[in-house]
Amino acid sequence: MSFESIPAVHRDDVAEILIPADRIATRLDEMAAEIDRDYEGKEVLLIGVLKGAIFVMADLARRLNVPVAMDFMACSSYGSSTTSSGTVRIMKDLDADIDDKHVIIVEDIVDSGLTLDYLVRNLRSRHPASLEVASLLTKPSRREIDLPVRYVGFEVPDVFVVGYGLDFAERYRGLSDIVVLRPEAYGG
Ligand code: 5GP
Repeated sequence: MSFESIPAVHRDDVAEILIPADRIATRLDEMAAEIDRDYEGKEVLLIGVLKGAIFVMADLARRLNVPVAMDFMACSSYGSSTTSSGTVRIMKDLDADIDDKHVIIVEDIVDSGLTLDYLVRNLRSRHPASLEVASLLTKPSRREIDLPVRYVGFEVPDVFVVGYGLDFAERYRGLSDIVVLRPEAYGG
């Protein structure tokens, strides 16, 4: 596989390109078309979960034909760098109220589901008109909590992925593709 899309400085860290940028773009076209159909005549409030969801937010919002507003939340859920601790803390809350709004939470990846479960329960208590979830990636084999994710980009196996917003120790977010790192890239 050619790694030409990966900046030279990161190329040796990459084991595999799991989802290339063009497949992400095509899938986002399909997800946006589905959302447009489901929300016809309504205005949508996309709530992006920082920082991983920034590219999904930007690329999804630009594809939607329904009117879109955007807000962001940040929460920390991880005890260590690659496994979920189960404890979720809100680091940045929304700027505005969401009551009577049609909210779609936009996530990069749903792994154990613990972060999202917390967010859904938290946002539901603020009485939105509707609340759904769109996630670019999901790891069904790792799910600890059963949550309905209405719009899913891709199901991925139980591997740690980076790129397209997803990081390892704040690196690799800017990659256009979703990739799997070599063990050495973790310092392993
Ligand atoms: P959950 O609470 O569902 O276990 O974790 C959700 C968060 O964990 C995601 O928003 C993401 O920040 C992080 N995460 C889960 N799996 C991965 C992965 O494979 N790669 C990266 N970079 N982050 C992940």
